[in-house]
This record gives sequence, C-alpha cells and structure tokens, in this order.
Amino acid sequence: MDPAVSTTLPSALPCPFCGSSRIVKGERYFAMCVDCGATGPERNSDASQRKFTADWNTRINQASTSGH
Ligand SMILES: [Zn+2]
Repeated sequence: MDPAVSTTLPSALPCPFCGSSRIVKGERYFAMCVDCGATGPERNSDASQRKFTADWNTRINQASTSGH
C-alpha cells in the first residue's frame, strides 16, 4: 500500500474518462481518479467521504448524459 494514496471511495462510480475504478479522496477535498487525475467538485473540509462520493457520482452522471 502506498501511504501517499488515499483510501479508495468504495461507492464511487468508475471514471468516465479512463474507466478506472480507483477513485480516492484527493489531497484536498474532492474525489479524484488515481489513473487520469479527473476530479470531482471541491468541498469543505468537514464534508464526509460519502459526500465526496456523491459529488463524484453526480458529475459522472452529468458527463454521461451530456454526450461525449
Ligand atoms: Zn480516470
């Protein structure tokens, strides 16, 4: 385990850009794809891991409905 890599968000959808399922909480307050660096919306420090996951999933759904 690389200590620099945050915990994978278990409920996050796979990355729409590279297909990776390795979505983690980034160094700052957003969900991030480990493989291509795509990020979800940034949140406050007191937001929960579930919130980061929800934001990421929301963004993924928006990306997939707005065409390629
Ligand atoms: Zn990715």
